[in-house]
Amino acid sequence: MVNGEKASSELVACAEPQVIPRSEHSISRKHFSPNAIKVLYRLKDGGYDAYLVGGCIRDILLGVEPKDFDVVTNATPEQIKKLFRNCRLIGRRFRLAHIVFGREIIEVATMRGHHEASADKNQTSQSSEHGQLLRDNVYGSIEEDAERRDFSINALYYSIKDFTIHDFANGMDAIANRKIELIGDPETRYREDPVRMLRAVRFATKLDMEIAQPTKDPIYELSELLSHIPAARLFEETLKLFLNGKAQENYHLLREFGLFKQLFPALDDIIENSETGFETKFIAQMFANTDKRINAEKKVTPAFVYAALLWFPLLKRSEQLQKENMPLFDAYAQAMNHVLSENAQHVAVPKRFTLGARDIWHIQLRLDKRAGQRAYRLSQQPRFKAAYDFLLLRVESGEQEQADLAQWWTEYLQQDVNGQKDMVKGLGHGDSNKPRRRFRRKPKKKPSES
Ligand code: ATP
Ligand code: MG
Repeated sequence: MVNGEKASSELVACAEPQVIPRSEHSISRKHFSPNAIKVLYRLKDGGYDAYLVGGCIRDILLGVEPKDFDVVTNATPEQIKKLFRNCRLIGRRFRLAHIVFGREIIEVATMRGHHEASADKNQTSQSSEHGQLLRDNVYGSIEEDAERRDFSINALYYSIKDFTIHDFANGMDAIANRKIELIGDPETRYREDPVRMLRAVRFATKLDMEIAQPTKDPIYELSELLSHIPAARLFEETLKLFLNGKAQENYHLLREFGLFKQLFPALDDIIENSETGFETKFIAQMFANTDKRINAEKKVTPAFVYAALLWFPLLKRSEQLQKENMPLFDAYAQAMNHVLSENAQHVAVPKRFTLGARDIWHIQLRLDKRAGQRAYRLSQQPRFKAAYDFLLLRVESGEQEQADLAQWWTEYLQQDVNGQKDMVKGLGHGDSNKPRRRFRRKPKKKPSES
């Protein structure tokens, strides 16, 4: 609908919300976590307004199980802290209260207001030269809070007072039409927080929705703004994009919008200039496997995903160094350091995962060295299974040269100890398979024999 598109391009949260009475919506308290209900009532009984907002309301309306329950209130963080013994105040950019119930945390935010100068010096907001919001601790009314949210589907408020839903930005229509649309002027909203571009992609695939044209159009131009976002925050966002069961779709959309380039520029460049298309096949296959595992509730290690994302930049760098006459192992080791530190400028992968990625890469070089005790010892390494899966991925996406090796390891892992020994004995005597000859000392002659 042409008019609908126009309306959404100028979507501004209205001061007067649509209030949907309990009898006209499907959300009931039985959908909520009991701890979220406790928090809502404690705030209400303390004399404050309290609402559930954002992802949980959106997801319940769509029949998806919410990941967590976010509460918003007109109580300040200090007032919240007074009401709950199990409360921690966190955050600088956004000050928030966490109410802790064992493993479940209910996040309680104070309603945010506009970030123009505030009279109260304790309430601060700050923008960068690119229009990016650096700090956002100005409190305000529920109407203002709604305008500050990213997408209309995320600006629905469920009131604990009378069980009504307050819809400030036509979020109910957007849910019905399955549209991701930013509230307000899209360019301004992306400039305030460029991560919203990644969130648009994530919600579109997670909820199987379409990004409305006016929300989609500026992304191509503005993707570069992601370079101003701290690499640690981008790491968190990539985890959400790649470990939520929709990685393959997210990858394709990120590539289409030019967002992938901002996150993994070295890989993006290789993919763009690939003559065979092998690299993109490998990455797409890796994400397809990751999605399959997540959707089957199997474990996925982020180390594997980042090892795969940096694999081609690693090989490229290693080849360059070998051309400069560096021996293979040295070149490979130096290339690892290089790609990891280059990547850390964009996406700061924590050390616990880069260590895992290094192990997976190291083992790739050693998989064909199987003679003597080597195959056994390699198979006992903590990261061996991931490295073996990595080899399978290489073959699966077309690296035929490794097919025999992968087949060998697959059989090896199915054998008992004797079967494994036989397999090692059965190896040919190519260089890489020769057992390392130890220097054998001559047995000392007994003095009596001399
Ligand atoms: P999910 O938890 O499924 O990832 P969510 O919508 O709950 O989705 P959160 O990151 O938990 O996402 O954020 C909670 C709510 O806070 C959002 O629904 C949205 O209203 C608001 N929000 C989060 N991030 C932003 C942002 N960058 N800009 C504006 N509003 C945001
Ligand atoms: Mg959430």
